[in-house]
Amino acid sequence: AAFTSLTDRLSGAFKHLRSKGKLTPADIDATIREIRRALLDADVALDVVRSFTGEVRERALGEEVSKALNPAQQIVSIVNEELTKVLGAGVDRPLNFAKKPPTIIMLAGLQGAGKTTLAGKLGYWLKDTGHTPLLVAADLQRPNAVTQLQVVGERAGVPVYAPEPGVQSGSSDVVSPGQSTGDPVKVARESLRVAQEKLYDTVIIDTAGRLGVDQELMTQARNIRDAVQPNEILFVIDAMIGQDAVQTAKAFDEGVDFTGVVLSKLDGDARGGAALSVASVTGKPILFASTGEGLKDFEVFHPDRMASRILDMGDILTLIEQAQKQFDEDEARQAAEKLSEGSFGLDDFMAQLQQVRKLGSMKSLLGMIPGMAQHRKELEQFDEKEIDRTEAIINSMTPQERHEPKIINGSRRARIAYGAGTTVSAVNGLLQRFEQASKMMRRMSNGSRSMPGMPGMP
Ligand code: GDP
Repeated sequence: AAFTSLTDRLSGAFKHLRSKGKLTPADIDATIREIRRALLDADVALDVVRSFTGEVRERALGEEVSKALNPAQQIVSIVNEELTKVLGAGVDRPLNFAKKPPTIIMLAGLQGAGKTTLAGKLGYWLKDTGHTPLLVAADLQRPNAVTQLQVVGERAGVPVYAPEPGVQSGSSDVVSPGQSTGDPVKVARESLRVAQEKLYDTVIIDTAGRLGVDQELMTQARNIRDAVQPNEILFVIDAMIGQDAVQTAKAFDEGVDFTGVVLSKLDGDARGGAALSVASVTGKPILFASTGEGLKDFEVFHPDRMASRILDMGDILTLIEQAQKQFDEDEARQAAEKLSEGSFGLDDFMAQLQQVRKLGSMKSLLGMIPGMAQHRKELEQFDEKEIDRTEAIINSMTPQERHEPKIINGSRRARIAYGAGTTVSAVNGLLQRFEQASKMMRRMSNGSRSMPGMPGMP
């Protein structure tokens, strides 16, 4: 993910501290120098680094650390608090909905920032939370932007208002507003009428971006803004663009006076530090984060959770929310019932495995568990093929065997292994894991039901 190397560097800085009992001012200064280098190397803007390390230093040399039982831990917690501030604690807030629908959300940002993708994700998320969104194709300049929005809308199951075709592929480049095929301001304005008529409660307007900031682009965005008076103007910024992020954010802040930020491509490997500076440079809240190309790779942004993720203190809350969202509750309830009746079989186990698979990238989820970043190497080796192999074994069992694993004797094991193209010891291993998992799930189903067991997890 975008902050992997920052996380590693910061953990490195803290590791030196942990081996010490008492901290001298020299220890503190050395740590702060390391933090400073880590942030600069991650592309965090210089001004932000300066004020951040200044704050940390002042607090670290102060009483709260010298009097702490565990000074090293105290410093980590100061860094955590200050990082949370940098990420926008204090200005953070949820999406602003209009008192009287439709809520109008306008997306702005450079070309390729991820606006169109975000429109789909936002639409999907809104629909999921009981809203009736409408996507509006007001990017008439980037070749195929309109078609792309239609595809994204279809995938998300959200309607798209696209009265103008925009520029089709084959055009060599982005054309200027003067040359575009239709009037995006008119499209945006008319979309509000459509929303009112057809009772869409949220309108998400995708607008044109450029590769670099330019006046024409800004004027067009401003014209759309003035025509529709959005409740939110979301500035979408690619976390991978590096140092340019700050200049771009400032330009859009002056140009359209956006109300909130969306960090996109946080799944990328580039140093994401510049994006971390955006909240602090503009004073605007980060509302969402985009973490992949899929519709569900999207989350509400919380400065405190992101800070603790960056510091490898884990982000249990997000983990649990994702798990709850992804697990099918009915299925979980049925599984729990079967467990209490003692009729939980391998077929149910397989259904659970499929739920686990639905969790999507296990690696990114496991990365949210505190301390896990240190085990990243092992995580990288985690193999989703393991689930495939398990499924193959279960698939080559008879329904009766799945339902009543107890009957699987030696000759059945050999037959199953043959059918799944694997060894008897792999079948034995699975049956053992199943036994353990059922035990674990039985325990869990007696306690909280919010997280059904995750069998098959190594
Ligand atoms: P727009 O020009 O601002 O509308 O940008 P697009 O939505 O077309 O996105 C540009 C490219 O970035 C596309 O290939 C997207 O699939 C990709 N993209 C968008 N968001 C993300 C993200 O969060 N992670 C990754 N890895 N790719 C993304």
